[in-house]
Amino acid sequence: MNAAKRREIFERLRAANPQPTTELEYETPFQLLIAVLLSAQATDKSVNIATRKFFPQYGTPQGLVQLGEAGLTEFIKTIGLFRTKAKNAVATSRIILEQYRGVVPQSREALEALPGVGRKTANVVLNTAFGMPTMAVDTHIFRVSNRTGLAPGKNVLDVELKLEKVVPAEFKQDAHHWLILHGRYICVARKPKCPQCGIADLCDYRSKTPA
Ligand code: SF4
Repeated sequence: MNAAKRREIFERLRAANPQPTTELEYETPFQLLIAVLLSAQATDKSVNIATRKFFPQYGTPQGLVQLGEAGLTEFIKTIGLFRTKAKNAVATSRIILEQYRGVVPQSREALEALPGVGRKTANVVLNTAFGMPTMAVDTHIFRVSNRTGLAPGKNVLDVELKLEKVVPAEFKQDAHHWLILHGRYICVARKPKCPQCGIADLCDYRSKTPA
């Protein structure tokens, strides 16, 4: 795919949704971090339903440490991998409280050192809470980047590095949100909605769904 096509894809995605953001609900960088940590292999919707119940009272590092693993488990039981997530969320809260005076660190290295925080979670927090132009490649972005030919790669890191290279500067901040939403609602895994797709004429996918 050439640069002009890539630019046109982002022009159209931006025109359709000028201010994209995450569908996770949060009020502080800390709450975003916890919400993303809980969202692994779970839908944003299910995470929002759970966090609405404990963020108002316990949505700070002190709050989660006070709530403890058993207490948090009660609130997130409906989410996959809830035991591990409760353990990681409380351990992460404790480190933020003790090592960073309760403030979420703004470096990738520090974020990735927190329990349960991988590269993708760090990228979401750096991008969405701190305004850095990182690409948090999830399953949706991976699929869209490969199908369209925008940034094909064998694994998520491959795709992330390619996107960083080829996405024009003005779109970098919002690119991952547009691609996630496109993958979640239009370029869906099983039967992509190509007849409704706003970038179909720019997409290189050979097995497009017929109209
Ligand atoms: S045309 Fe189809 S495969 Fe290509 S981006 Fe759109 S929905 Fe996805």
